[in-house]
Amino acid sequence: MSCDYFALAAPGVRTLQPYQPGKPESELRREYGLSDIVKLASNENPLGPSPKGLAAARDALSDIARYPDGNGFNLKVALSQRLNVPMAALTLGNGSNDVLELVARAFLTTEYEAIFSEHAFAVYPIVTQAIGATARVAKANPPDHAMPYGHDLAAMRALVNDRTRVVFVANPNNPTGTWLKTSELEAFLTAIPKQVIVVIDEAYFEYVEPELDCPDALHWLGHFPNLVVTRTFSKAYGLAGLRVGYAVSDPQVADLLNRVREPFNVNSLALAAATAALGDLDHLERGKAANRAGMRQLQETCRQFGLTWLPSAGNFLCVDLGHRAGRDVFVELLKRGVIARPVDNYGLPHHLRISIGVEAENARLIDALADVLKP
Ligand SMILES: *Cc1c(COP(=O)(O)O)cnc(C)c1O
Repeated sequence: MSCDYFALAAPGVRTLQPYQPGKPESELRREYGLSDIVKLASNENPLGPSPKGLAAARDALSDIARYPDGNGFNLKVALSQRLNVPMAALTLGNGSNDVLELVARAFLTTEYEAIFSEHAFAVYPIVTQAIGATARVAKANPPDHAMPYGHDLAAMRALVNDRTRVVFVANPNNPTGTWLKTSELEAFLTAIPKQVIVVIDEAYFEYVEPELDCPDALHWLGHFPNLVVTRTFSKAYGLAGLRVGYAVSDPQVADLLNRVREPFNVNSLALAAATAALGDLDHLERGKAANRAGMRQLQETCRQFGLTWLPSAGNFLCVDLGHRAGRDVFVELLKRGVIARPVDNYGLPHHLRISIGVEAENARLIDALADVLKP
């Protein structure tokens, strides 16, 4: 006899909306019988990983009968030197997604609340609800704001109460691309009580151009012991498939995160690749240059098509399709072999998020979009 497992599941899990990933290329190939597909849907690095990272991963293959280094010593040494932080401040994760979950597991219970913004990264509600904690969703900026649909820090701060334990801030934010400026984020950190952990998710940090005044939150670690900064090797470092990310925090907080961490959460190929990739600054610069060029290419096209877009500090552009439904345009692009990302599930039904590709990929997207939008 079978049970109603839905009724038996933890209450938070019963109502949880699973993460909707970008459509994999292989799926489009299967479903539409298409080849020659361009995927601009998951903000991956179109240049791929550093060749040095790849070579290190290949070398590490010979030793996969062994468990990985559960403390990730080599990667922590490399990160500690690069970021100028103590090794004890680091927590490694199976992607930064893993680290976000560790924060939730370490600090949230069914008694407590987490705050995040509308139109923010979908993982925040998932890790909050999986614990059974209460999610408080702050209203985002209005469409006519300089950072449309971006985080409204005053609205977020207004939701803080005695039960608040965690605030998630994405800077720059995905899927909007919007960002918070140095002074406003610093004022926010100053105003948040010290018993509330503030996670600043900097998944796109490496792409941020200095003139945007989008801060490096690591500078504040000495001032705010409640600050947790998360970063990843999935985006600018081109290692999304290997899953490596990390948090930098006060060592006491890092100690707690590491207590709930699965002992071997980062695999040996990922550790080796990330350590080597971190040292390949030339590759990182090539990726950033390609992103700048692709961003210009895409924005120029949008201008020609009469489309506007949200300001973006990342490696993607959230384009406003006006009266058109983002999901319809997404489907039409699929038929033409181009995968973009609808963002209706983020409360943006008339936008489409497009990851910046290399020139030829952007050109494919542009041709397909021209075809779809033609009257
Ligand atoms: C892509 C992304 C992440 C990182 O995901 P990984 O688990 O590190 O691959 C985290 N936060 C935001 C806002 C992202 O867009």
